[in-house]
Amino acid sequence: MANTAPAASRAESGDPSFAELIAARPHLSLHALDGLVVEEVPLARIAAVAGTPAWVYSAGTLRRRARSLRAALAGAGLSASVHYAVKANTNLAVLRVLAGEGLGADVVSEGGLRAARAAGIPASAIVFSGVGKTEREMRLALAEDILQINAESAEEIEALSALAAGMGRVARVALRVNPDVDAGTHAKITTGRSENKFGVAIADAPGLYARMAALPGIEPVGVAVHIGSQITSGMAPYRAAYTRLAELVRALRAAGLPVLRVDCGGGLGIPYRDEPAPLPEALAGAIKATLGDLGLPVMLEPGRWIAGPAGVLLASVVMQKQGAERRFLVLDAAMNDLIRPAMYEAWHGILPVSPVAAVAPQGPADVVGPVCETGDTFARGRALPMLQPGELVAFLDAGAYGAVMSSTYNMRPLAAEVLVDGARFAVVRDRQDVAALLAGQRLPHWLAEGAP
Ligand SMILES: *Cc1c(COP(=O)(O)O)cnc(C)c1O
Repeated sequence: MANTAPAASRAESGDPSFAELIAARPHLSLHALDGLVVEEVPLARIAAVAGTPAWVYSAGTLRRRARSLRAALAGAGLSASVHYAVKANTNLAVLRVLAGEGLGADVVSEGGLRAARAAGIPASAIVFSGVGKTEREMRLALAEDILQINAESAEEIEALSALAAGMGRVARVALRVNPDVDAGTHAKITTGRSENKFGVAIADAPGLYARMAALPGIEPVGVAVHIGSQITSGMAPYRAAYTRLAELVRALRAAGLPVLRVDCGGGLGIPYRDEPAPLPEALAGAIKATLGDLGLPVMLEPGRWIAGPAGVLLASVVMQKQGAERRFLVLDAAMNDLIRPAMYEAWHGILPVSPVAAVAPQGPADVVGPVCETGDTFARGRALPMLQPGELVAFLDAGAYGAVMSSTYNMRPLAAEVLVDGARFAVVRDRQDVAALLAGQRLPHWLAEGAP
């Protein structure tokens, strides 16, 4: 217990306190008997039913965020549709809740398209984005007659035209442009700079748009941008991108080309720690100020902003290990479950679940998983109480780019997923069976015969 300092040490780390983290998240509360509770369900109860690690999503938070985003857009006087970026969290129950809020979908793969359809999102509300759609995916998008395909290259436009004409279909295509703005986010999730693989150069856009209008099987419907993810640096990058987009739309119109709508992309950031993150009202205002004069409907493709704050990753302590220099809290969750700290140096709030631990004295701990990589570290020097094996902790804001980025590295099965809705909860995805990790593998006949 040598390195367990009093709670005051927390202030030195600059991290928000447990109470501050909980207060900023409406679906979380701390109860004297039940400990940490999501909506009306104690996380300890969920762990008893679903085991750990488990992803827990709050339906109420998903709904609240979908509504507040739409209210912000309407409040700015915009005619807007929201197409949730399903890659952020593709769980069918999550998609179903969002479908119930009338959200459309932005998909980037056949799997995403099928998930959105399976959850009840109509094809007429689905946008297909992505820099590398395969022929099979284009065919599916055309067969489903989805709302819009966002094309990202001259090559893709030609391929789409040939496929659509062959199928007797018309692809409604928006041209994704690369506005060459720096969204000021982590380099791995910035997408709107000219060096990035996404979209077409804005200088090439008028020619390509005219080409789309001339090609069989293609109806050009608008232009699109998506400049990056976890944008927290204010509205400047959005304004810069949308200003360029507005100029482009004016040029297209001047050339007599039809523009029916503008796709503003996603990327709105959330506060993981206590960083000042923009509100949807600010984004709506930026859209209104830059694109409002065009009088066109706009589309939004938020992923993280909707789903991120709605989820926690629930994990158990395997052991507390006193290293030579540091205290390690070894969990049963690892980088294969939540890769964001390893991949983006992301900070996630980590709360003990038990009511006793929540108020116990704290000292610095490195929170790690059991995977054989030093990168399997969730946090270093985090102020946490002493925790016994089997005690629960919750990673906050794990609802987006959490479960969907999981792998089975170290032969670790995918974790269970749980949806909480008021006082109800249900396991909405079973924990993967270890046997499933071996299923589908087979030895070639020349190795299978006889003893090894
Ligand atoms: C990933 C993605 C989004 C969503 O990004 P968030 O940062 O989660 O809002 C939107 N549009 C496109 C094209 C994407 O690839």
